[in-house]
Amino acid sequence: MEGALTARDKVGVQDFVLLDAYTSESAFLDNLRKRFSENLIYTYIGTLLVSVNPYQELGIYTVSQMELYQGVNFFELPPHVYAIADNAYRMMCSELNNHFILISGESGAGKTEASKKILQYFAVTCPMTESLQIARDRLLLSNPVLEAFGNAKTLRNDNSSRFGKYMDIQFDFKGIPVGGHIISYLIEKSRVVYQNQGERNFHIFYQLLEGGEEELLAYLGLERDPQLYKYLSQGHCAKESSINDKNDWKTVSNAFSVIDFTEDDLENLFGIIASVLHLGNICFEENQQGWASIPDTHEIKRIAKLLGVHPWVLLEALTHRKIEAKTEEVICPLTLELSAYARDAMAKAVYGRTFTWLVNKINSSLVNKDFTGKTVIGLLDIYGFEVFDKNGFEQFCINYCNEKLQQLLIERTLKAEQAEYEMEGIEWEPIQYFNNKIICDLVEERHKGIISILDEECIRPGPATDLSFLERLEEKVGKHAHFQTRKLAGPKGRKRIGWMEFRLFHYAGEVTYCTEGFLEKNNDLLYRHLKEVLCRSKNRILKECFRVAELENRRRPPTVGTQFKNSLSSLLEILISKEPSYIRCIKPNESKEPSKFDDFLIRHQVKYLGLMEHLRVRRAGFAYRRKYEHFLQRYKSLCPDTWPHWHGPPAEGVERLIKYIGYEPEEYKLGRTKIFIRFPRTLFATEDAFEF
Ligand code: ATP
Ligand code: MG
Repeated sequence: MEGALTARDKVGVQDFVLLDAYTSESAFLDNLRKRFSENLIYTYIGTLLVSVNPYQELGIYTVSQMELYQGVNFFELPPHVYAIADNAYRMMCSELNNHFILISGESGAGKTEASKKILQYFAVTCPMTESLQIARDRLLLSNPVLEAFGNAKTLRNDNSSRFGKYMDIQFDFKGIPVGGHIISYLIEKSRVVYQNQGERNFHIFYQLLEGGEEELLAYLGLERDPQLYKYLSQGHCAKESSINDKNDWKTVSNAFSVIDFTEDDLENLFGIIASVLHLGNICFEENQQGWASIPDTHEIKRIAKLLGVHPWVLLEALTHRKIEAKTEEVICPLTLELSAYARDAMAKAVYGRTFTWLVNKINSSLVNKDFTGKTVIGLLDIYGFEVFDKNGFEQFCINYCNEKLQQLLIERTLKAEQAEYEMEGIEWEPIQYFNNKIICDLVEERHKGIISILDEECIRPGPATDLSFLERLEEKVGKHAHFQTRKLAGPKGRKRIGWMEFRLFHYAGEVTYCTEGFLEKNNDLLYRHLKEVLCRSKNRILKECFRVAELENRRRPPTVGTQFKNSLSSLLEILISKEPSYIRCIKPNESKEPSKFDDFLIRHQVKYLGLMEHLRVRRAGFAYRRKYEHFLQRYKSLCPDTWPHWHGPPAEGVERLIKYIGYEPEEYKLGRTKIFIRFPRTLFATEDAFEF
């Protein structure tokens, strides 16, 4: 235990379970604030780590800090992300089982930084052989590549991950990192074609323009100025002082060479990236018949060259649509609006699939077939609960994902608590908690859940709209206790719900979703005509991304919602078989400033992260538990029987010790290997006695 307990009035307690008023949100916040003002950004809730983004370099990630945490008992040092990493690693090595570390929190809270710190910790502290250094370097360097293609500047975070990421780090039986595997979730493709004011497209576009060699840019037909590209200029902030695209380009180029990308891979890859930019600059005009045409074919020719497709076929596919009638195909011209839609859909599809290709490519370089019987530590860096003024399909998916993860956490924490009490032979009463399975079912249940209802609307013949989807919801889940619309909320509805909106009562609070765009985003349609062009592309990467077999398969591909549901279900399967650790990240303020603790904002996150609930579960039984040896070691000086040495069994030593210092029977229980203390005050009194 750290000496911090004696100074707890000033720096708070290092573990929230030691708070007396553990059900009080204000006490929770006070503790967090005290610690934050002392630059103590980490606090535990039992074994869960709460981290507040300091927005400044604190000098706590040095190699000597890493060494400090190596192999040390979890609670003996101040809370740290290294302690979580080290604990998972030690347990994996000693018990030869698999672990995962789930990092969650809202945008800008520090998830990605935390996951990088963990990866660095393993890279520095794990044993290593010369031949495996390359595996380690690839693991480390997969980050800048994925960040270049999957991260972007948003209003909330200059380096915001626009995809969810799960990464397995594989270790051999000696604890050497030997390989890895990455799974990505739901990349935000819409960013490729549109960015809000003050936001940017994915970093890679700017890196290429700023840092790319003259020769490369000439080959790609690109100019350096991002303002020349529609897909890069809508947010009006192509240049951002905190981002050095030129340097980042060098880092990414170096990473590409370590991760085994060939010249040919890169030529194809940047051919695609450049094509996306050229696509964005295609302008349509209305011809005399009122249909879309492309008068300037410059861009078309460039794209055709880079993607290895025929320019006139591409032009036709961007301005026409193939409709399959019973016996023949009919080609219909498109309106201006639909042509623009087709162009953007093509850019999004190409980028999205290329991102998946990139992840696969990185994975193939991280595979290490020489090692069997590996154990893994998985790192999950995934979007936290999102509530904005206007919430759409993306927030719906993200919040659904958080419901599922919350379910896992509650189940696992409760189960772990229960298992520990049972193992130690301690009586306990079941803990009351809110089981959010009911909300998960509301979203995902087959035929009945919101995703199924949405899918049905998407395939229904006839004019389905976002409004008709809402009506279907009202019809089918309108009476559900966790669902509401304006029609059903009635005049007593507390907060206003708009015509196109529905509200879900999530475990973390209520969120109102606007159904506008749900159908389109769930369908994520790419006209068949364009798909044909892409399937026939000579670009090697596109060939892998768009298989001809896809054209032959007449069945509709699964919708985005269903795909996401399936990938979440596989993720949960991956996680459920592993031992969990949790890191909950908190963003202290909206202005990215150091030392600014915005009470309102943080209170909100404490709620959405389910921290009070977690603390309640953790505290329902006993606030504190320690192995007899450790307890004795710490407090033996308080009792003449145990000082300076106790030679009998530790359990007996502890019994004598607490009898001597006068613990009341209701204050503690003795388990098989541990002492359980019910109230923090008991421990504090012992700690204070020990200080004097
Ligand atoms: P998103 O969901 O948008 O991807 P995130 O939770 O991954 O957000 P990060 O990118 O990890 O957020 O953090 C945002 C920024 O905050 C970082 O770029 C860095 O400047 C700062 N930051 C985060 N964690 C730390 C830390 N431990 N120490 C110093 N600065 C930090
Ligand atoms: Mg991130």
